Amino acid sequence: MIYLDHNSTTYIASEVKLLVSKLVNEPLNASSIHSKGRFSKNLIEEARNQIASALCFDINSNNYVQVIFTSSGTEANNLIIRNFLESEVFISATEHDSILEQQFYTPNIKLISVDNNGLINLEELESALAKSTSSRKLISVMLANNESGVIQPIKKIVAIAKKFGAYTHSDCVQGVGKIPVNISELGIDFATISGHKFGGLIGAAALIINTKFILRPIIRGGGQERGARAGTENVLAIAGLGLAIEMASRNLLERYENMSNLQKKIEEGVKSVIPNIKIIGKDVERLPNTSLIVIPGFDAEIQLIALDLRGIQISSGAACSNNNNKRSRVLTAMRLEDSDIKSAIRISCSHKQKEQDINIFLETFAEVYKTK
Ligand code: PLP
Repeated sequence: MIYLDHNSTTYIASEVKLLVSKLVNEPLNASSIHSKGRFSKNLIEEARNQIASALCFDINSNNYVQVIFTSSGTEANNLIIRNFLESEVFISATEHDSILEQQFYTPNIKLISVDNNGLINLEELESALAKSTSSRKLISVMLANNESGVIQPIKKIVAIAKKFGAYTHSDCVQGVGKIPVNISELGIDFATISGHKFGGLIGAAALIINTKFILRPIIRGGGQERGARAGTENVLAIAGLGLAIEMASRNLLERYENMSNLQKKIEEGVKSVIPNIKIIGKDVERLPNTSLIVIPGFDAEIQLIALDLRGIQISSGAACSNNNNKRSRVLTAMRLEDSDIKSAIRISCSHKQKEQDINIFLETFAEVYKTK
């Protein structure tokens, strides 16, 4: 089996498995006052510090900078956008569905178009902000796209936001563990991360608040997470997320090099089989692990199934939305032709991927293409 779908989810890091195997025997409720409760609370606080240190922001500087744990990146994205629904929110047209779908519930979300590479149109963003009459504004643009891996110019977006006094949020779910994510340097006010994308368990994610802002919860009840997100914390997954992000930041350069070498090998290899393939976002800054490849006239679903039958798992776009079989909104926003959208496959490697895996993938891919 060769798994090449790491943008959808990845293996749990071995260090995290070890930690979880120890903690799984403990009753872990961070709201309890007794020693087991305090132990749980300490695990959560340690994870907050691990996130702050990996993503370079100072959690102890004042009371406002916070890490709010949620059950998923989807929830964290919902949490921040829903805090701005009465304000105006400016998002790129290639955001993850957990951001994009908010537009169906409020007229206050403005979609900013992207170019053929998926990069946000900065002039359009600036003129939309200039026209806005809302006293409170939020710009939400993802750091890296889950389908194409294309990296958005977040620092430029923050500079524009500052001119208009707008808050900035970035969905950093796909960036962590693949490229350096420095919250302070990016200058963003809010960020979303999700543990299962970088070696943690599914079930823990976070919304980072790096500004003076009182967050309104969307889940009310207990006073957990300083009242920002009720519900007994998933201590096991949160501790796993903390360790996973620490591991990911420790050897990021090495990870980057390995993924980027394999990306080159994949793209050159596939091109040698089919010279007229298109690699989406090839000429702009991209994640080192993601290749979104269009093979004209070769249906993505057929490729996916044929490869799966031969033991190789890839994706035909965003795994999160594959189950409702809809046309990729991302590729539509990038104005790809319909036939290209239908034939786009996504190969996403892990930092631990072996060159041998890619050799097998390329051989198998050539075999599948011959049977087309
Ligand atoms: N944002 C991006 C860019 C994603 O790729 C994903 C998941 O694929 C999410 C948000 C949602 O994260 P989660 O799976 O934790 O809900």
